[in-house]
Amino acid sequence: MEYPNLKAIINDVQFKFNKSLGQNFITDKNLLDAIVADSGVTDEDTVVEIGTGGGTLTRAIASVAKRVISFEVDKNLQSVLALSLQGVENAEVVFKDVLKMSDDALREIVGDSFKVVANLPYYITTPLVMRLLESTLDVKTITVMVQQEVADRFVAAANTADYAAITLAIQSAGSAYITRKVNRRMFYPVPNVDSAVVRIDVDRTKLQGEDKALIHRLIRSAFAMRRKTLANNLSVALDMDKQTVTDRLVAAGYPPMVRGEALTLDDYIKLSKLFA
Ligand code: SAM
Repeated sequence: MEYPNLKAIINDVQFKFNKSLGQNFITDKNLLDAIVADSGVTDEDTVVEIGTGGGTLTRAIASVAKRVISFEVDKNLQSVLALSLQGVENAEVVFKDVLKMSDDALREIVGDSFKVVANLPYYITTPLVMRLLESTLDVKTITVMVQQEVADRFVAAANTADYAAITLAIQSAGSAYITRKVNRRMFYPVPNVDSAVVRIDVDRTKLQGEDKALIHRLIRSAFAMRRKTLANNLSVALDMDKQTVTDRLVAAGYPPMVRGEALTLDDYIKLSKLFA
């Protein structure tokens, strides 16, 4: 499939970039095809893209997927997309904010089961990934281009500075890995940060039979005040006496001053039983 010259189109229709919407587009065909290859999308997949931009990634996904539904909030891109997506029959652009849509509203447009591929505006990365992981829809994989530091957080190991509540939220619903690093010069216009592509293979059976709500609450509270001990954070979140919390942690084999960042997902599952 031929790739139209996005820079020329943007110039022709005099499109004005909106910096506050994180509009940094990819025009390099090799990179676009590589992201799609990383996502594992095949001609049997419906793909949801978030942030159509100039439609270059949309076109690359459409060249292998069964169907692409791409969400964009900036209606000013309509004139760009009319040209850049010309001749692409299996892609449709929806001018709506996915973050503001219910599962039912999303299901009506995209169906029950899909893969997600997106080059995300940086400010919605974490809420969007959380939104998808918590959704009742069958999201099979999430392949996203994110800021390098965010990618590091997604795949961090316990006891490192990057380890965060989002790391554990991802681990509890699947597994994540970085498929490639992308230099900032690959974007137009060039942003201030480098990026990386992360693929999350969703596995909803990971917390099957466990108290998911409590586990997520424990994780959120353990990282609420990073510098405080786990006992301190949990006593606030669970409204329990700090000594009682410490005694239970110690009885379960944890040091009294342990911090939330030292615990793995298995530890949080164990804690959910301790504090059920
Ligand atoms: N996919 C394109 C690419 O790879 O070149 C564009 C990527 S650009 C980083 C992100 C796009 O997301 C922008 O076009 C921006 O307008 C759009 N956007 C920002 N917030 C959004 C939201 N809440 N929902 C959907 N799209 C959004």
